[in-house]
Amino acid sequence: MRKSDLVKFKKIFIEQREQLLMNFSVLDSHLMVNPEDKDEVDQANADIEQSIHMQLKNRENMTLQKVNDALRKIEDGSYGECESCGEHIEIRRLQARPTANMCISCKEEEEKQSASMVLGGRFHFVH
Ligand SMILES: [Zn+2]
Repeated sequence: MRKSDLVKFKKIFIEQREQLLMNFSVLDSHLMVNPEDKDEVDQANADIEQSIHMQLKNRENMTLQKVNDALRKIEDGSYGECESCGEHIEIRRLQARPTANMCISCKEEEEKQSASMVLGGRFHFVH
């Protein structure tokens, strides 16, 4: 990969990380609900809201991990390599999905496998 591309990706990831960290603090401040004057319905709503926030946070956390991973790879020079076969990931794929860690053929292979697992599970369930 060209150095100019790496610099570009690094910039994307740093911006993405800042965005995520900002979202985290918004979510956190939102989670601090006032415990006073709450009836049961409010409490139930607050619980639902809290669990949605937790889910959101978990998802953001996963994204943040991927972003940190990608940044680490840029630093150690392994960014853009497929984790499965070690080939270079197509630059167009990285532009569409900068945190991609597998080349398109390995990813397709993986998706095929997980699809057949789901199918197999259903088959098992029916019988
Ligand atoms: Zn691969």
